[in-house]
Amino acid sequence: DMNKCILCRRCVSTCKRVQDIGAIESTNRGFESAISTAGDLSLNDVDCTFCGQCIESCPTGALREKDNTEKVFEKIADKDTFTIVQTAPAVRVGLGEEFENPIGTNVEGKMVTALKRLGFDKVFDTNTGADFTIMEEATEFISRFSKGENLPMMTSCCPAWVRFVEKNFPEQTKHLSSCKSPHEMFGAILKSYYAQKMNLDPKKIFVVSVMPCVAKKYEAQREEMEVDGNRDVDAVITTRELARMIKERDIEFNELEDSKYDDPMGEATGAAAIFGTTGGVMEAALRTAQDILTCQDLPKIEFEAVRGGKGIKKATVNVAGNDITVVAASGLANAQK
Ligand code: SF4
Repeated sequence: DMNKCILCRRCVSTCKRVQDIGAIESTNRGFESAISTAGDLSLNDVDCTFCGQCIESCPTGALREKDNTEKVFEKIADKDTFTIVQTAPAVRVGLGEEFENPIGTNVEGKMVTALKRLGFDKVFDTNTGADFTIMEEATEFISRFSKGENLPMMTSCCPAWVRFVEKNFPEQTKHLSSCKSPHEMFGAILKSYYAQKMNLDPKKIFVVSVMPCVAKKYEAQREEMEVDGNRDVDAVITTRELARMIKERDIEFNELEDSKYDDPMGEATGAAAIFGTTGGVMEAALRTAQDILTCQDLPKIEFEAVRGGKGIKKATVNVAGNDITVVAASGLANAQK
C-alpha cells in the first residue's frame, strides 16, 4: 500500500543485504517513486522466496501479508464443514505480544481456548506433525547415508529456502530432503488417517495452519500439496491474522482460562520442541537416527562458528560409529555461502 510507504527502503535493504536476494527495489523518481520489482513483474516471476522479511522490516504496514481471515470465518460458519486448526510452536509466544503481554510470555492455554471460542471443531499442535517429519527425515538420512546417495542432505522444512534452491541452484534440489514441512505433513495425516478414524469425508475437512511465517502461505498453494483435488492445508494465517480474528470477535484474550489441545493429536516429543531453533531440524533428525540405530541418546552437539561466516556453525557428531559433519546456517545469505 504505497499510501503508507515513507520510502525508507528498509524492505529493499533487508531483501538485498540480509537475505542477499534483491527481488524488490525502489523504482521511478519523485512523486512517482514506488517500491516494486524490476519491470513491475509479479513477485512470482522474480527471485522472491516469500520469506516475508520485507514485511517484518516495514515500519508503517505498507507491506503486509495477504489476509485469509475472511475465508476462515466463512468456513467456520459453514455447518457442513469440519474445521481443524493447527498452531506452530512460535505462535504461542508471538500471540501474547499482540495482547500486550511481555515479550516471551507463553499463552498456549489461552490461545487454545480462543481458537475453540472462534468455533474450530478441533485444535491441534503442529508439533505432532513435526514428530512425523523428523521420523521421516531421520529414516531418509539413514537410507541415503548407507547408500551414499545425494549427500550432503539438506533439510526442507522452510518453504522459502526450498524455493531459493529451486530458483538459484536447480541442480542441487536432489540434496533437499523429500519430506514436507510439519504443517503440510500433518494436514495430509488429518485428511487421510484421521478422517478415516473419525469417519469424516476428507473433502469436508478444512485445515487451517497458524504459522509465524508468510512463506507457508505460498507453500500451501504449491501443486505438490494437492491430492485428488484436495489440499493438505486449505488456509494459512499468520500470528497477527489470528490476533485480528480474536479482536474482531471481541474475545477478551487476557481474561480467558487455559485449555489443552484436543486428543489424539495434541501431544508431541522433545524432538518436535527443538525444531524451533536454527539447526534444530537437523539436530532432531540426527538424534532420532542415533536412537533408531543404537537405541542410545546422542550427546549434546558442540557447534563451532565457521571462520568468516557469522551465522554459520558446524560440528562433527558420531552417529552409530560414523563421524558426520553438520552445518547450520541462519538466513538465506548465509545459506547461499
Ligand atoms: Fe515503504 Fe515499508 Fe519499504 Fe519503508 S519498508 S520503503 S515504508 S514498503
